[in-house]
Amino acid sequence: RNTLTGWNFDNSYARLPEKFYTHQKPTQSKSPELVVLNYPLARSLGLDLTMLRSKSGIEIFSGNLLPEGSTPIAQAYAGHQFGYFTMLGDGRAVLLGEHITPRSERTDIQLKGSGETPYSRNGDGRAALGPMLREYIMSEAMHALGIETTRSLAVVTTGEKVYRDSPLEGAILTRVALSHIRVGTFQYAANWGTVDDLRALADYSIKRHYSFVENDDNKYLSFLKEVIKRQAMLISKWQLTGFIHGVMNTDNMAISGETIDYGPCAFMDDYDPETVFSSIDRNGRYAYGNQPRIAEWNLSRFAETLLPLIHENKEQSVIMATDAVKEFSNIFNSSWLTGMRAKLGIFNEEKEDETLINELLDIMYRYHGDFTNTFRLLTLERYEKTAMSGTKDFSTWLERYKSRLSRQKEITDESNDLMKNSNPSVIPRNHRVEEALNAAVNNGDYSVMERLINVLSKPYAYTDDQLEYTELPKEKNKCYKTYCGT
Ligand code: AMP
Ligand code: MG
Ligand code: MG
Repeated sequence: RNTLTGWNFDNSYARLPEKFYTHQKPTQSKSPELVVLNYPLARSLGLDLTMLRSKSGIEIFSGNLLPEGSTPIAQAYAGHQFGYFTMLGDGRAVLLGEHITPRSERTDIQLKGSGETPYSRNGDGRAALGPMLREYIMSEAMHALGIETTRSLAVVTTGEKVYRDSPLEGAILTRVALSHIRVGTFQYAANWGTVDDLRALADYSIKRHYSFVENDDNKYLSFLKEVIKRQAMLISKWQLTGFIHGVMNTDNMAISGETIDYGPCAFMDDYDPETVFSSIDRNGRYAYGNQPRIAEWNLSRFAETLLPLIHENKEQSVIMATDAVKEFSNIFNSSWLTGMRAKLGIFNEEKEDETLINELLDIMYRYHGDFTNTFRLLTLERYEKTAMSGTKDFSTWLERYKSRLSRQKEITDESNDLMKNSNPSVIPRNHRVEEALNAAVNNGDYSVMERLINVLSKPYAYTDDQLEYTELPKEKNKCYKTYCGT
């Protein structure tokens, strides 16, 4: 560890077979400026704040200076994009290396938007300021919600333009992750590597993320099961908060179980399983209600890559892997149900709970209830404020709900605490995110975004200063569109 800066690199990924990456320095940035820095994250990484804000700190975030001990590489991976398999790789990102935190956690430090790599295909390797700030806001909001995610350490502008439909300000995001190993990394190994390469990647991933299965009889099968479990838990959290990833391609699914790649993601307003925000998702493949199914599909692709390792007999291997993937829906359903019970303040289990929950969702759907606010208002017992209030459907449901609550030993206060801890009062609402990005990108005013990030850092606090952030836009943003790859 450098005692002045705090950087402490040990780059194990770069010790994998050469196939998995290409040595690649970030492209130089003309005149970098630091626009956001994540102080709490920097502190937990053991990095010196003065150093990060200094000229050399900014030079590091811009790719102009390599922190000591880094081994910059672009990672190779493949993936199914909207169902079609293709070679991909870090086309606009460079992994500086793995920083070991004071608590001995290994974290990837990646520069996103740092220039061309051998995997750039037709892209310019660059990123625009708006989308990088958007990833910063969304990923930090997810972290505060208690959802596993990559983090955002800093955003710098490069002083150069990136050319999309119009010239935009260029920027680089410093992303922090448990790792950037994706389902697509395994697909790459299975398709273009030898079985030894594949085994090297699997052994590496197990050691790094699932070391507790290392001594299992069939550690590759255990590994598959554990990845499935983490993904099922993760997707249940997405569903419970109304998070829509938007581009659940297999290259955007992390083996660590973290949410990764914030392109066209957004939170749902009115409850509607068909909600899609992404401009490129014309068929609704990645709609809110499809996310569990898609995750399972992606995990089937992951399972396929592991077949040569799971059993020497192909048929046996297929049976074992298929059984493992089938578990996804069980784990997801039970985690979702537990989460939904908590959202309703229910501690014990009754057979009819699922019906009670689904009826609420159904009423929310029919009367255009806002997902987050409905649960927030139930938490506050302000039933009359919900979009469904005054309807026979809702009052009937409410009666059943109240009698359900009376059938548990926990008192109202306990029930209420559970609800407060399970129902965020604030989420990054689309119009608020847009407002913050507009102020930052168009006027260089970062105060709107800083306030938003601050409010989003305590989603379960239910404080008065958050109230205005619970408000819906004046015009319902049914037509809200998000974009990726900009
Ligand atoms: P994404 O849609 O962000 O998950 O990216 C899919 C693939 O496209 C990844 O291999 C990215 O590295 C690559 N990519 C996205 N944007 C660019 C860009 N501007 N230049 C080069 N490659 C890119
Ligand atoms: Mg190489
Ligand atoms: Mg991606």
